[in-house]
Amino acid sequence: MTDHSAGELELVRSKRCMPQLVYRNCFYNKEATCDNRTVWTCVDVRKMRCRARVHTFGHKMVVHCLTHTHAPHLNLIQKKRLHDHLLQRLNIHPS
Ligand SMILES: [Zn+2]
Repeated sequence: MTDHSAGELELVRSKRCMPQLVYRNCFYNKEATCDNRTVWTCVDVRKMRCRARVHTFGHKMVVHCLTHTHAPHLNLIQKKRLHDHLLQRLNIHPS
């Protein structure tokens, strides 16, 4: 497996226009924002009891806990790309 340690964060919109984050081929829903810090939880948090999370501060990733309990969301990402709902592509440097 390739390690994309200096990966990219992409901000997209879900069907319901909720902001979502794509990182390392997985989707995250926005959970909470406090000051400039945003907590994103894996979209499979309920379905797969996945505890993976990403914290961002402004455009920078500050914390990532990326132990997923399932395969990456490659199909979902492909569909999203087809619909071109990409809002922003952010170059991030995980700490
Ligand atoms: Zn997950």
